[in-house]
Amino acid sequence: MSIADFTPVSLIDYPGKISSTAFTHGCNLNCRFCHNPELVVQPSSYNVSSDFFDYIKKNNINAVTITGGEPLISPHIFEIIKKLKNMNISVKLDTNGSFPEKLKTLLQNDLLDYIALDLKGLSTDDIQYVTRNKNYTLDIFLVTLNEIKTYKTFKGETVNFEIRHTLWKAYYADDFSQFLKSSKTKRYPLEKLPKDNSTKNQYRWKNIRQTI
Ligand code: SF4
Repeated sequence: MSIADFTPVSLIDYPGKISSTAFTHGCNLNCRFCHNPELVVQPSSYNVSSDFFDYIKKNNINAVTITGGEPLISPHIFEIIKKLKNMNISVKLDTNGSFPEKLKTLLQNDLLDYIALDLKGLSTDDIQYVTRNKNYTLDIFLVTLNEIKTYKTFKGETVNFEIRHTLWKAYYADDFSQFLKSSKTKRYPLEKLPKDNSTKNQYRWKNIRQTI
């Protein structure tokens, strides 16, 4: 089991809950605005999983956000989340949306309480430009979204989720309308990335949320 790092307390990662945040190694994408590049390139030898589980046990943490990198690329993700759920902890997963089958497996095992799904662009061209990955398409994102939206627990409940889009280019209202139509979504929060003054043409992460 491998966890790259963790934040003991977060007031912003898990909507409505105070959580700890666990970071996993590695990502299949290479976003131009990556907010955690050190996790994407860092070798996976660094592992704080013992410290992380000790901390949440000792401090009676009842909610954890798992983020990365891309958590679904981790060979340990099922094991990590299962262990948290066995401790009766609510789990939120942040994902880039490119692993619909892995996400489906987690859902089918009732292992997720909240999902934050990244939308990298409103078209395949935009997604591939910004992620620098020629295999990731809007259709794959829509399959992931559909898995989330159609999932029902054995009690018939849906899973809480949000779509997050980093506004890295200017879109027209029609682009959003078209996307919302194809994804059958009425609204989603935006995380706006202002330009970083120190690095021209790059952007930095900033946690501003708007609703359109
Ligand atoms: S999906 Fe996330 S972690 Fe991976 S490269 Fe993009 S921004 Fe970075």
